[in-house]
Amino acid sequence: MSETTILPSYLVDRWQTGSGDGAPVLDAVTGEEVTRVSTEGLDLAAAVGHAREVGGPALRELGFTARAELVKALAGALAERKQELYDLSARAGCTRADAKVDVDGGFGTAMVFAGLGRKGLPEGNLLVEDEEIPLGRGGTFAGRHVLTPLRGVALQINAFNFPVWGMLEKLAPALIAGVPTIVKPATQTVYVAEHAVRIMLEAGVLPDGALQLVSGSVPGVFDLLGGQDMVGFTGSAGTAAKLRSDPAVTRRSVRFNAEADSLNSSVLGPDAAPGTPEFDLFVGALVTEMTVKAGQKCTAIRRAFVPSGRLDEVTDAVSARLAEVVVGAPGADGVTMGALVGRDQRDDVRAQVERIRSQADLVFGDPTSVEVVGADAERGAFLSPILLRSTDRSARAPHEVEAFGPVSTLLPYDGVGDLVEQVARGEGSLAGSVVSADADFVRDAVVGMAPLHGRILVLDRDCAGESTGHGTPMPQLVHGGPGRAGGGEEEGGLRAVRHHLQRTAVQGGPGLAEALAR
Ligand code: NAP
Repeated sequence: MSETTILPSYLVDRWQTGSGDGAPVLDAVTGEEVTRVSTEGLDLAAAVGHAREVGGPALRELGFTARAELVKALAGALAERKQELYDLSARAGCTRADAKVDVDGGFGTAMVFAGLGRKGLPEGNLLVEDEEIPLGRGGTFAGRHVLTPLRGVALQINAFNFPVWGMLEKLAPALIAGVPTIVKPATQTVYVAEHAVRIMLEAGVLPDGALQLVSGSVPGVFDLLGGQDMVGFTGSAGTAAKLRSDPAVTRRSVRFNAEADSLNSSVLGPDAAPGTPEFDLFVGALVTEMTVKAGQKCTAIRRAFVPSGRLDEVTDAVSARLAEVVVGAPGADGVTMGALVGRDQRDDVRAQVERIRSQADLVFGDPTSVEVVGADAERGAFLSPILLRSTDRSARAPHEVEAFGPVSTLLPYDGVGDLVEQVARGEGSLAGSVVSADADFVRDAVVGMAPLHGRILVLDRDCAGESTGHGTPMPQLVHGGPGRAGGGEEEGGLRAVRHHLQRTAVQGGPGLAEALAR
């Protein structure tokens, strides 16, 4: 294998290629090799040093609002060249609609952050957080909190399913905050992220050292991090647990934010009988969440709770809609669901489905075979949508096993108390939804479910037209979740910028903070 097929990394302001044969990255649809990755011989210590010594000072020279302008320019560059990213996303199994969720979602999110930063942040590098707090009777001594950019580097480790959005939702707030960034995309879709980085660099607006990219693994990088650095991680709970226990985090207090996996719930209200708009909204949302990105979304509905008397009606309605799904090559005639990211991922999903099936019935789909349009079903990572149903109240698997694909389980409930007890078995989720027009039920369900979720959508006939949907995190709102979901928080408007700033209580004479901000 010649070295030219290795996907480059962008370190210390130049494209560099790791040595050796590297590891192959395969096309999700054809199984052919797309590229190879290797970071052998790359100097990650130099990259971290470059970010701290060159990127940080250059970004801080600009101030908050100028940096927000810069992020706007990056988003604009990506928007202009989105077609290139759609084309590459197809190799990762994404239909055009899937690619838009990632690509348009990515630059759209960056655009929103840029707008919030331009309007809501001051020009310099000091943000005064609150009103002056008097600390003396005579009025000559007071305190206040100020926020300033960390002087280190943000290492952003992303999951395979959103190579563009997952990067931008972290990168935009970090750059606006003034923290230089090293992006480490997941290997399976690194070629999409690499191209997005290339587009952003070619926009020519970033100062040296502000953005670096590692295409491949990052051995030893945590040893290089210290108390002014932060890690933004998205991926599985297992990897999160491993990284969280690194001495960089436990001893040197590197800030560590995790967005991990999640058994997200959607709830059909007792009022939503067949024939009501809410019943149709619930069924439609479930099918959408199962099939967009072939269900490879951290926010996808894995558990669909239904009043026990409605289980058969919902099973029939969802199955009928799933029967209309056409699985196949992105772009092929009529295809509405693409491939999983790779055959390993498909094997993993099949194994997880078997675990859930040990405590649930399969009511739609065949995990072992699927009819495929425009591609070879075995070469590509194709899988049928799989609907399961569990009526065994002691079953744990549907609440604990994440099958990261087009897989969901229907579960019956009897009353809000039972519902919340079952939802809690997921041990913390990113997103939940309650589909109901019954205000009393909605209140009890949302109050009960809120401590277990980072975000809850209440969907009814009145808001459905403008609703952004169960699975879509909004840059203005918090994304993250307690417990198993990682216990982290991203997005949430300017909160995301503040996560990259140090809060300092300053004490002194009245007007001190204003004087510092000048
Ligand atoms: P993963 O296997 O945990 O990998 C996530 C990232 O961590 C990848 O970039 C991976 O790089 C990297 N990584 C693995 N070991 C590492 C180490 N020792 N040091 C530094 N980096 C390391 O997860 P995935 O398979 O990509 O993503 C699927 C999972 O992510 C699902 O469970 C899903 O629920 C979750 N997810 C969560 C969110 C959210 O916002 N909460 C969003 C999307 C996905 P390599 O690829 O090079 O190994």
